[in-house]
Amino acid sequence: MKDSFKHKGMRQQLVKTIKRKGIKDKNVLEAIGKVPRHLFMDSGFLDHAYQDKPFPIGAGQTISQPFTVAYQTELLKVKKGDKILEIGTGSGYQAAVLLEMGAKVYSIERQKELFKKTSKFLPKIGYQPKKLVFGDGYKGMPDEAPFDGIVVTAGAPFVPKPLLDQLKIGGRLVIPVGEASQRMTLFIRKDENEFDKKEYDYFRFVPLLEDKN
Ligand code: SAH
Repeated sequence: MKDSFKHKGMRQQLVKTIKRKGIKDKNVLEAIGKVPRHLFMDSGFLDHAYQDKPFPIGAGQTISQPFTVAYQTELLKVKKGDKILEIGTGSGYQAAVLLEMGAKVYSIERQKELFKKTSKFLPKIGYQPKKLVFGDGYKGMPDEAPFDGIVVTAGAPFVPKPLLDQLKIGGRLVIPVGEASQRMTLFIRKDENEFDKKEYDYFRFVPLLEDKN
């Protein structure tokens, strides 16, 4: 498991690419520049690791496209020490980006194998989330709520109410909403029962599944 000069160089190119595509937040760009994405994919795929593309990671799931990770993270407006909940741990790449930014990370994954693999893998390469849970993201993590930010990394057919309930006042939920394609949507909690909603670009995510199997 190593990070070479060559990897670092490729990563800087990736940072340039996503900057050109419109990501402005310096902290986000810096974090993308630090996380060794090639380690999150099976070996032999180095050429793919630093292209701005999603990639299969097994169990029919994908590691999100770096631009998409950056886009969602930018909308979250992460500050050091923020408590962030991620729905859909997957490879752990998004979690690592959040950890690089100094967030306290909580994440939920519904696929047992991925959950087990990523729970072992992240600490091995030096990333320590506060809590990784095997469970259903539609329910959020009520025991650890409220959160400064919640990011959903799978396409949600609707906005799960528990996720809105688990935001602090001023907290932000970033969620791709839709079936065939999803519109990136931001909710900011203004008050107990009041939320601001803003809509952004369209993306294609793997679906946020409702029933465990
Ligand atoms: N954040 C990941 C992206 C993973 S893709 C990364 O950076 O690599 C989306 C993930 O959401 C998949 O791993 C999928 O298994 C998971 N998922 C789908 N439905 C879910 C649900 N209801 N609760 C939790 N995770 C879910």
